Amino acid sequence: MARYTGPVCRLCRRERQKLFLKGERCFSMKCPVADNTDRQTRAYPPGMHGASRQRQGSEYLTQLREKQKTRRIYGLLEKQFRNLYEEASRRPGITGTNLLQFLELRLDNVAFRAGWGASRAQARQFVRHGHVQINGKRVTIPSYRVRPGEVISLKPVTRENFNVKRNLDVLDRTVPGWLETSDNGFSITVRAVPQREQIDEMINEQLVVELYSK
Ligand code: SF4
Repeated sequence: MARYTGPVCRLCRRERQKLFLKGERCFSMKCPVADNTDRQTRAYPPGMHGASRQRQGSEYLTQLREKQKTRRIYGLLEKQFRNLYEEASRRPGITGTNLLQFLELRLDNVAFRAGWGASRAQARQFVRHGHVQINGKRVTIPSYRVRPGEVISLKPVTRENFNVKRNLDVLDRTVPGWLETSDNGFSITVRAVPQREQIDEMINEQLVVELYSK
């Protein structure tokens, strides 16, 4: 499946907020949308007229931006995201919650939540390059939907990888309650499907549903 390969800070600037797409850099002074008043930031939309363009507060625009933000946080292109929404709407329960659960249960997201990757993009690369196993078998599909009871682990040789070690040491990411770590953080078990309150991304999924259900 295709992925976005352009400049990612541009995406944050478009949404006028940090989406944390670059790992460590996002917490440094190099972030162009850092909320630090001591220096010049570029927390306005990219492009020639980004700084001067006034944002119209229409309902449609609010919904569109929320959808784009959600999609970009999880690194999906439009078609894949739309398909996920269609599937979520067919499932019993609240469509917005179903959608967020599907996004959280992606294999690349679980590798990110485990703290192996500094960003979802890096976690995705670990999956694509065959470093991640499910119940001892290599799986290279970032969109693979993990199920409760499955054990996701890093290949033994990858555990010595400098980047993985550094991420686990430096990022100190808290693993959400629906996942359980073992093996010094190199294995993770899916305990259950995440509940809405366990998903800490600042997303208003209802706006996404309203946009797509027009
Ligand atoms: Fe977004 Fe991170 Fe770039 Fe800041 S450094 S703009 S949070 S991707």
